[in-house]
Amino acid sequence: MIILSGMKLEELEGLMNELKATKFRAKQIHSWIYSKSVSSIDEMTNLSKDFREKLKEIAIVCDTKIKVKQVSKDGTIKYLVEYPDGECVETVLMRFDNRANLTACVSSQVGCAVNCSFCATAKGGFRRNLTYKEIIEQVLTIQRDTGLKVTNIVFMGQGEPMLNLDNVLKALEIFNNDFQIGARRITISTSGIVPGIEKLAELNLQSTLAISLHAPVHELRKTIMPIENKYPLPDLKKALKNYIEKTGRRITIEYILIHGFNDTTPVAKELAYFLKDLKCNVNLIPYNSVVENDYKKPSGNDIMKFKYLLEHSGKKVTVRLERGADIDAACGQLRGKMQNKNSLG
Ligand code: SAH
Ligand code: SF4
Repeated sequence: MIILSGMKLEELEGLMNELKATKFRAKQIHSWIYSKSVSSIDEMTNLSKDFREKLKEIAIVCDTKIKVKQVSKDGTIKYLVEYPDGECVETVLMRFDNRANLTACVSSQVGCAVNCSFCATAKGGFRRNLTYKEIIEQVLTIQRDTGLKVTNIVFMGQGEPMLNLDNVLKALEIFNNDFQIGARRITISTSGIVPGIEKLAELNLQSTLAISLHAPVHELRKTIMPIENKYPLPDLKKALKNYIEKTGRRITIEYILIHGFNDTTPVAKELAYFLKDLKCNVNLIPYNSVVENDYKKPSGNDIMKFKYLLEHSGKKVTVRLERGADIDAACGQLRGKMQNKNSLG
């Protein structure tokens, strides 16, 4: 069976050619998939009944399922999307009340090999890469289920996008061309994979690069992020400076605040020093307790103090609102829960 979702316009035109149908049919099907986000060929009502029957013999719209859906009081929706081989990933839709933006948080891999100590995704280990079609399928799932059009995409679900960069870049192209989501509305978040950052610098895309820094000194960072041993901070910084110079773009620094570990005044000063010659905004993320460990959330007071110190050093700082706290909306939580359930039988 041919899976229509994920096919580019040229591919659909090729298929129509085989079916001896016009190019215009390809355009219609393309619009049903990416703009109107239908789930079945029967819903493509501007195609003749005969043609729909013919198409149904060889094709279906998609082969994924929504395994779990959770809706938060704040409007955040979280999906566990299941692929035909039984593997699942998480996709989250976030709405921000004051804006018309609908942001999809997508996964790039099943599991993750980077193994950060604070992350629920890391606990299940790495399973496999997602294909570009599986990546975009997550956004189509959201659009089909809600009837809404996603306007922004962040690669902040499961997995390390830079370790599956070919598929991420192909997905990006389809988001641009087929979904009509501008590159400026897409953010790629990485734990700091230097060769990936170098590749993005070369490509000079319009997308935003977000770096999960989480600690400004080697000794501290390596205790929570083993990737620090492979790509230590000086190498990372060099790659970031090069990226900023080549693209002229401002990057985003993500920084999880863990109580008593990296949220103190001396660490804030170290962070300000590390960032002083980098063109960046900072996004502070209060730690979300998702896995069994001793990490704790910082107090509201400590968050404000940390924010103040960074702002004082001239950076624009935002604190990430907790979205969907009532529905396991942090990275890797829902899938982890399902795995636990499954292993308990
Ligand atoms: N692998 C990429 C993208 C996915 S993780 C990366 O690490 O950047 C997306 C973001 O969620 C990262 O900044 C990550 O550090 C953060 N995150 C993971 N576990 C978290 C937790 N328990 N609390 C708060 N943020 C978390
Ligand atoms: Fe992987 Fe990102 Fe989780 Fe680290 S935080 S284990 S890189 S998904």
